[in-house]
Amino acid sequence: NTTLDVTWAIDWLRKSAAVVAEHRMALIELDRAIGDGDHGENLDRGFSAILEKLDAEAPATPGTAFKLAAMTLMSKVGGAAGPLYGTAYLRAATAVGDAVELDAATLVAALTAARDGVVARGKAEAGEKTMIDAWTPAVDAATAAADSGAAPAEVLAAAATAAEVGAVATEPLIARKGRASYLGERAIGHRDPGAESSALILRAAAQAAG
Ligand code: ADP
Ligand code: MG
Ligand code: MG
Repeated sequence: NTTLDVTWAIDWLRKSAAVVAEHRMALIELDRAIGDGDHGENLDRGFSAILEKLDAEAPATPGTAFKLAAMTLMSKVGGAAGPLYGTAYLRAATAVGDAVELDAATLVAALTAARDGVVARGKAEAGEKTMIDAWTPAVDAATAAADSGAAPAEVLAAAATAAEVGAVATEPLIARKGRASYLGERAIGHRDPGAESSALILRAAAQAAG
């Protein structure tokens, strides 16, 4: 397939909700080690609310689906991650506009806009032990894949794999943003919860693409 449509976007959100629910305790444990222990609970609440809204009325385009996700995450998740993920989905919605079919280049534009939105909102740079350390390698890998002619599913698979590697690579880092930054060197050896949840969500995007 050379394009992805709203069926994919809805399936992405549903699979994200499933994986966040499945990894709820693991995300709580990661956040308990270097934060306040609520990341899994926050995200699970937000994605459960997304499921309810999808059941009530299915969005008609990928952009509407992303906007639904953005509004729900902003109002339900709270903490640092709610506004950050909300901004990511809102920027992705703007990037795809009212397109019905998303090709590889549009997907890359959406992922890039999402990442740029998190940066604009949170002001984190690469290497500061945040979700950016999953998103930036994901965007780079997606860009490289699309540039070499990969189909959307392959672009998303490349992004997900890079995000997973990026999340693991936060373990030796000292945190410079968010609650974990209060810990100084004590954050070393722990994976950033937001980078981990980002990798889970990007893997869900790839799985939804088949
Ligand atoms: P809180 O820290 O308010 O309890 P969460 O636990 O839901 O919020 O989310 C914590 C995650 O948010 C971190 O693991 C990190 O990935 C991300 N994060 C925190 N601050 C920033 C920031 N300034 N920029 C990017 N990501 C951030
Ligand atoms: Mg927290
Ligand atoms: Mg909190």
